[in-house]
Amino acid sequence: MGEILKGTKDEWEVVIGLEVHAQVLAGSKLFSGATAEFGAEPNSQVSFVDAAMPGMLPVLNEESVRQAVRTGLAVNAIINLRSVFARKNYFYPDLPQGYQISQYELPIVGEGAVEIDLPDGGGKTIGIERLHLEQDAGKSLHDLHPTKSYIDLNRSGVTLMEIVSKPDMSSADEAVAYIAKLRSILRYIGACDGNMQNGSMRADVNVSVRNPGDKLGTRCEIKNVNSLRFVRQAINFEARRQIEILENGDIIDQETRLYDPDRDETRLMRSKEDAHDYRYFPDPDLLPLDLEQSYVDELKADLPELPDIRKKRFVADYGLSVYDASVLVAERDTGDYFDSVAKNRDPKQVANWITGELFGHLKKNDLTLKEAPVSAKKLGELIDLITNNTISGRTAKEVFEKMWRTGSDANEIVESEGLKQITDAGAIEIIVDKIIAENPKNADEVRGGNSKAIGWFVGQVMQATAGKANPKAVNELLRNKLKD
Ligand code: ADP
Ligand code: MG
Repeated sequence: MGEILKGTKDEWEVVIGLEVHAQVLAGSKLFSGATAEFGAEPNSQVSFVDAAMPGMLPVLNEESVRQAVRTGLAVNAIINLRSVFARKNYFYPDLPQGYQISQYELPIVGEGAVEIDLPDGGGKTIGIERLHLEQDAGKSLHDLHPTKSYIDLNRSGVTLMEIVSKPDMSSADEAVAYIAKLRSILRYIGACDGNMQNGSMRADVNVSVRNPGDKLGTRCEIKNVNSLRFVRQAINFEARRQIEILENGDIIDQETRLYDPDRDETRLMRSKEDAHDYRYFPDPDLLPLDLEQSYVDELKADLPELPDIRKKRFVADYGLSVYDASVLVAERDTGDYFDSVAKNRDPKQVANWITGELFGHLKKNDLTLKEAPVSAKKLGELIDLITNNTISGRTAKEVFEKMWRTGSDANEIVESEGLKQITDAGAIEIIVDKIIAENPKNADEVRGGNSKAIGWFVGQVMQATAGKANPKAVNELLRNKLKD
């Protein structure tokens, strides 16, 4: 049971199904050899096929197929050994063919499931209806000229996977968690870079509301939402809009809408078109796609450890909390980094260093883990220096800072800057004695029962040793010498 929304008259449940479009990292486009790189000069990556020159024939890109199958396997879905490409006919200025090549009745991937992680620590299984391959369209640019529109066909023909969920989500939180998990999986397997800002991943958000327990209500589809924040806002606005209509005694028209972030509202684009409006039919230029089971099996055997399995392993083998494990497995690089530092070290301590110091520095400097100047090996060496009492945790943070700036090893820095902790009790005792002798009044205060004043002495000793005295040893010595 999902979250319940209160209207002015009634209680409501939101139902959400998502169609996620993910641009496939396939080198070239779905049916041509043109590159699919983002950000190039307009119309510089357009083959005759992408421009729909008469007589051009599509040739299926193998890597796109491979990535679609891997994605299907990664979301625990059925792989259809036979699938068929179909023409979806419609007119759009940036669609020169007059149809999009997509898959309709026989998609390459059938039903599957994704586990999502919710903010309250719980989880839920979201069904996948299907995944199919299709071409992207070009882009119309309406804001470059006062009276003309321009068309950029670089994106025309780029491989998309459309991943269609079942209407299994019942709050904005669940929808966001679903997209985040899908994105994580896609990035793990390298099928899509998951970059929503560049449009490599975008979602059509289907929303309906109903009284709890009722059958599904009429849905509206909000097109092309391109950030998690906007997905959340669009759902919340749309649910409220529908509740208001229904509580006024009206009915919901099945519509295609857009989300306007500037006004935080959804607006009508067009009333919903049905499949027959597109007059789908199998593309006569393309043979059905037949896969061998052995090909699918090989791809399955070759998948990396996926985030959910890795998360369970981090909890079971390292004793991490589910929360820490989720944070560490969200990106594949982070999980790899943790694995390599945590080997033979205290996992909790390693997790703290990664989510604290390391993530903090990455964020502050806007770097990815790959660009971090402190490698897993180097962080491990630093942690070892704490474990074997060479430096204190506090000094270690300073050393980390220097490692980050200079790229040096922890050992080098500790050595060259003389940061080794003084654990030799004799050496500390000389300093302690000296400070007590020089400050008889403060010493009497401690002896007289003011135990707080001992902190002042600790501070003096730390200052005198430039922070290198082992704090525990200093405390013990002072307590011994200053007891009444
Ligand atoms: P179409 O192909 O016309 O877009 P589908 O049946 O394939 O329709 O559904 C598209 C998406 O809409 C799916 O993600 C599905 O989960 C979702 N959906 C279907 N019915 C509802 C509903 N009543 N409320 C919310 N989402 C829905
Ligand atoms: Mg649809």
